Amino acid sequence: MIQENLNIVRATVPSNVTLIAVSKTKPVSDLQEAYDAGQRIFGENKALEMRDKHQVLPDDIQWHFIGHLQTNKIKYIAPFVTLIHAIDSLSLLEAVNKEAVKNNRVIDCLLQFHIAQEDTKFGLDMEEAKTLLESDSFKDLKNVNIVGVMGMATFTDDSAQVRNEFKNLKNIFDTLKENYFADKDSFKEISMGMSDDYPIAIEEGATMVRVGSKIFGARNYNI
Ligand SMILES: *Cc1c(COP(=O)(O)O)cnc(C)c1O
Repeated sequence: MIQENLNIVRATVPSNVTLIAVSKTKPVSDLQEAYDAGQRIFGENKALEMRDKHQVLPDDIQWHFIGHLQTNKIKYIAPFVTLIHAIDSLSLLEAVNKEAVKNNRVIDCLLQFHIAQEDTKFGLDMEEAKTLLESDSFKDLKNVNIVGVMGMATFTDDSAQVRNEFKNLKNIFDTLKENYFADKDSFKEISMGMSDDYPIAIEEGATMVRVGSKIFGARNYNI
């Protein structure tokens, strides 16, 4: 079932867009099934869960941390994480840098922006991002590399609204690229789109989509 779902999703994701299989709450056997179907990039949103899965699954998996990251949990994922999607403050970025130094790594990160019409979602606005990027403390961080932006659209059936929110994130990306990362080729990622809205996100310029339930089935949080 997972392999069939994966093939259906893959058929709708162009080759220049990275498909992240969001496997949070799912058992290792489900990830192994996706792995056997060729999937190598997985997204998790709990540090300990990601560390535990990383320990038992093959080494060539790329682990993307997609959720809100607590400072005291960074140490569990810093040795191996490929990309942290949801940086929403300078202090979090400083804490990631500190763990990256300990592991002698440079960790790629995305800045998360608040694009939804909901109070509940984390993320920066443009002013906060500017303050962060222009701060002296940011310039001293040598072990984190900002490679793009991430956002989550409002949970709604109104696809016009969702499309506008994705357009907004694309504009934010373009502005940051022009003003802060013009000569940095690695700043190129726009992580947006989930199971229900990723086709719209791709139309609006997503370079990474984060798809969970459409691959692994609905999640059960009560287990
Ligand atoms: C859970 C989650 C997803 C995937 O959600 P689906 O609707 O199951 O595809 C994507 N991004 C983030 C940040 C998530 O927490």
